[in-house]
Amino acid sequence: MLTFEENLIIEYEKSKKRIMDIIIADIVALETATDAKIVTLTNHIKMKTGSLADIYKILTKLNVNNYRFAKQVIPHIYTKSQQEVLKLLDISDKLLEFTTVDEKAVLELQQRLYENLAIANKSVGLKIISQYEEEMVGYATRQLTSGGKTKELTREFLDDLQKKDIFTISDKNGKKLNSVAYAKMNIKTTYSSAINIASINQTVELDNDLVRMSQHHSSCEVCGLYQGRVYSVSGNSTKYRALSEINDGAIITWGIVHPNCRHRFTPYVPTLDDNAEEQQKNSNKAFSDNRSEASIKSYNKRQEINRWNNEVNKNKESIKILETLPKIQRSQKQQEQLKKLKKRRSILKKSIIDKNKKWEMDKGS
Ligand SMILES: [Zn+2]
Repeated sequence: MLTFEENLIIEYEKSKKRIMDIIIADIVALETATDAKIVTLTNHIKMKTGSLADIYKILTKLNVNNYRFAKQVIPHIYTKSQQEVLKLLDISDKLLEFTTVDEKAVLELQQRLYENLAIANKSVGLKIISQYEEEMVGYATRQLTSGGKTKELTREFLDDLQKKDIFTISDKNGKKLNSVAYAKMNIKTTYSSAINIASINQTVELDNDLVRMSQHHSSCEVCGLYQGRVYSVSGNSTKYRALSEINDGAIITWGIVHPNCRHRFTPYVPTLDDNAEEQQKNSNKAFSDNRSEASIKSYNKRQEINRWNNEVNKNKESIKILETLPKIQRSQKQQEQLKKLKKRRSILKKSIIDKNKKWEMDKGS
């Protein structure tokens, strides 16, 4: 069975496909239309019951899905993480309490996820509605005035559509991401935040002030500074650094070191640790990247795979747009471009599989 998360991502992919289909159907209809029909079609695109309204409906449905997802999934993840803490401390039979602190934390996580996804939907929606309407109406007008030159215009329009990147979102740092990848990032980030916040809150509720940050083989350069150490949640400990020292207070504010971070925070009890002295010493060292060369290499490989996956997504859109035109209608340049894109697609797919295999092997050693 698919998880909530997988289902939500599938909805994103389906919605994207539906929107593309609407746009492409309009282009195909326009290309073969007579003058009178072009006017009708132009109105259809602009009208409240036309293509733009259909696109709007698809995006609204995504928002409803996101809301349900946030409402159902976050309390579930949060409670599970609380239970993990009890298990770790060997007090699984203790009754789990859901305090006002927990309630507030869950509500905040739900709001953050829903709002981030809604902002992304709105940005994609506005982009489509403004650019597509403008382009399409411009195209129809040119078709009306230039009569028979529809083939060239369709080619031109599809070229433009590809360049516009309507499914691309810029994040807070200006980094461009495909809408599906953006949704994935937000879900993953909120998952990790929920797990960490629940774990930290639960640890404190049990009168324990210390947490340990996990240590990963393929950590990023940011977490390389902080991972594997023990921190004091309150910051009042004389033996350990404050949790707020991590990446400018990121854990206190967001429950996560950076977006997409996989590091976890779990309760730490010195009396249960055979290497408590060593751990304390290590935790108080100056912050510096503690990753080994192999670890840095492994991280870079993972990043490369991520970049390739992003390219595969973009590649898929471009192929779909170019394939809208029957072969005889594609310009020489578009024909060559399509061939190149398909070749690149198979290279990328093979590279991702090969690299993933190799990466898994390295990780095991
Ligand atoms: Zn990290």
